[in-house]
Amino acid sequence: MSAKRDYYEVLGVQKNASQDEIKAQYRKLALKFHPDRNKSPDSGEHFKEISEAYAILSDAEKRKVYDTHGHAGVDGRYSSEDIFRGARVNFEDIFAGFGGGGFDSIFESLFGRGGFAGFGGGGFGRERGADLVYETSITLEDVLKGKREEIDIQKDIDCENCKGSGCTPGTSMRTCTVCNGHGQVRSSRSTGFSTFVTVHPCNTCRGQGKIIERPCSKCKGTGKQKGTKHLSFDIPPGVDTGEYTIRGEGESVPNGVNGDLIVRIRVKPNEKFKRDDKDIFYDQNISMIDATLGKDIVVPTLEGREKISVEAGSQPNTIIKLKGKGLPHQNSRVRGDQYVRLVVNIPTKLDKKQKKVLEELRDTFD
Ligand SMILES: [Zn+2]
Ligand SMILES: [Zn+2]
Repeated sequence: MSAKRDYYEVLGVQKNASQDEIKAQYRKLALKFHPDRNKSPDSGEHFKEISEAYAILSDAEKRKVYDTHGHAGVDGRYSSEDIFRGARVNFEDIFAGFGGGGFDSIFESLFGRGGFAGFGGGGFGRERGADLVYETSITLEDVLKGKREEIDIQKDIDCENCKGSGCTPGTSMRTCTVCNGHGQVRSSRSTGFSTFVTVHPCNTCRGQGKIIERPCSKCKGTGKQKGTKHLSFDIPPGVDTGEYTIRGEGESVPNGVNGDLIVRIRVKPNEKFKRDDKDIFYDQNISMIDATLGKDIVVPTLEGREKISVEAGSQPNTIIKLKGKGLPHQNSRVRGDQYVRLVVNIPTKLDKKQKKVLEELRDTFD
């Protein structure tokens, strides 16, 4: 295990920094390294590190302990729960304007579902179920309207015999007497003037606070069996090829955190339309004569046909814009446009009469 970095260094503030400076600096770093905003793989760990530093330094008493005794002093006195729960108001202040669900949801994403409220039953470092992957292909029309997916996925579901409790039907779990249901035990040891308190998960109940006395015979107490789960969800309009996460719909583990369902979406190529983000490109063939004389024509769009006017004297590759006939953007209601490019066809075969007419025409252009 690598040595813990100095809390002041982690936040990048001076040892004599004021509460306001510490708060402002943490806010800045939190915005930058929050895992929802920062996709680098170690952003979660980094966010934890700065959050722990802030939890300690924003609390006058804990800051004093740290200034006097360093990390050993803090670790000896406080559990992770003490550190973060104690600083809850300071965090809420900061995350109030953060968007998303505030303190609980932000820390849930780092420490697992119910990380704080359910601390007695597991809390930090709980096991996480595996992610499941579902792949699907959609059309450009689906991108326009959005699509409801109905899927059956193979995953662990609640055991039918014990309804997921893991106990033989008719029996129930009992509270662990070693930890009194807290899932963790504290031991304290006095050295001179100070008392060191260490908190560790209860071995008897493996940190769960409860013990199954008579495990269900079908699932051996896990509460799970292999099965199929029906799931429906909406693919929103405006998506592109890529991965989307549905939180908590992956595999579950007893008393742990559910994994996620990763939905891999592939937008199928369309024969007529090319897509560029929210715009659509379409090539319309038109005869040399029509380009020259002008004509009202009808072109396909994602939602049926649209009449456009080709002006007399239109040049090859002229672009005609159909405003608002493109795709929606995921985060806004404003739709892109459709661009129609005129591809002017020069005739390669002419019958005698046509040739004569064109030759006569040529003579008039002198
Ligand atoms: Zn226990
Ligand atoms: Zn069972």
